[in-house]
Amino acid sequence: MKTIINVLLALGALAVGIWVLPGESRGFTLLGGTLDLGQRDYRFFNNFNGASANSNTVADPDFPGALGAELAIWKGAAEWNSRLHGSGGTDTHQPDGIGSGRSNFDSFYAGLATEVGGVNDNTASMISGFSSVHAFLEFPIGDGWRIRFFEGPDSWQDQPDMAQWSGPFPWDIQGTMTHEYGHALGLDHTTVPGATMGVPTQLGVGLRSIEDDDRAGVQFLYGAVSPSKPVIETYSLAGNLVTLRGRNFHPTHNEVWLTQLIPGGDGTPIKVTHLASQSGGTELAFTFPALAKAGEVAVKLPGFTDADLSAPFPIDPNQEPYYHRPLSYGTSKVTSSGSTPAIQVVGVPSLQQGSFELDVSNGPTFGMGIVLSATARNAMPFFGGTLWLAGHIERERVFNHQFGFARLNVPFPPGAVPGESRFYQVWFADQGDPQGVGLSHGIWVTFAE
Ligand SMILES: [Zn+2]
Repeated sequence: MKTIINVLLALGALAVGIWVLPGESRGFTLLGGTLDLGQRDYRFFNNFNGASANSNTVADPDFPGALGAELAIWKGAAEWNSRLHGSGGTDTHQPDGIGSGRSNFDSFYAGLATEVGGVNDNTASMISGFSSVHAFLEFPIGDGWRIRFFEGPDSWQDQPDMAQWSGPFPWDIQGTMTHEYGHALGLDHTTVPGATMGVPTQLGVGLRSIEDDDRAGVQFLYGAVSPSKPVIETYSLAGNLVTLRGRNFHPTHNEVWLTQLIPGGDGTPIKVTHLASQSGGTELAFTFPALAKAGEVAVKLPGFTDADLSAPFPIDPNQEPYYHRPLSYGTSKVTSSGSTPAIQVVGVPSLQQGSFELDVSNGPTFGMGIVLSATARNAMPFFGGTLWLAGHIERERVFNHQFGFARLNVPFPPGAVPGESRFYQVWFADQGDPQGVGLSHGIWVTFAE
């Protein structure tokens, strides 16, 4: 009986977690102004001169074609976007993924600049000098902005992992960019502790992940995500022909934006215009332009509202998105017997079958488990662990296991289409746990044809 009671309690709490809105401790303030669709592009002039600012040589598949400080700057701005950037990455400092704004606001990384540029050129760069503030934004923003990082006294750090940092007075490029870009899109400082627009923590790393107050701010300025906003879910390649797959593309007049190959320019993305969509506005095919590079792609509809630009999606003209493979994220709660639960998709989650196989391992010794799923990912404290799912949560199936192992068939959601994504997590009954609950990490599954 205890097991069943625990299940009911946990699911009761889950429902509360879904319906209760964040607290009323609203603290965000406004700078004055917003960025229209002509100001969403930004570039980076990489004049960072310390060795620790350009030391990261590990590519991130969610941010193709960039390393070092460029990668850190790009990730910093992308955190404000309406949707996860590709899979959202695996940075433990950003457990809900990169791209957490969930508003109609989306930025566009246009590529490298070759100079600092003017105050309205939408660039980030280093400035020689010394200040108690680490960086600043030049505004008003409405006709463009400029972000400067002070050369001293900081040793600017580009490594995602603080264990790789070096030098005196280390400070995080990525988190600082997230904060400064928050100013660029129209937010001033907040009094809410822990917010990105608040006081820095963890040498700036604590600013990388925007929090509820920051999200409330960007949603106040740009509105919650419109159901009509175009969405890029994935893409496929045939030579240099790219087919974007998603939804809400215009029948005849789409514009595709891409990151420029050659550093310089004025920030205008490389564009392919007057593109007609196929398959009911779910496919968009174009030839990858010679002047574009691995970076990001966005779709703009005719019109000038915030909902007319898609979230950018990572694109590499030489490689299809790696997150066709299921990708795990977050961490599991250690069970009462000391094991760390893991879940893994077996093979390719192909819609040609009615379900996909999920391997569960290292759960509590025995008992009941539930496979949960949702359309978005999250990182919310939950029964001594973390709930890795957001929004409406489905119970996919209930199962019994022994020694923490099970292989399960999980049905695809009704009407699922190729390229569609869903997030999964397993809840366990754990009788030896003080709260009776075990929790796996999350897994992001993109459905294949
Ligand atoms: Zn500030």
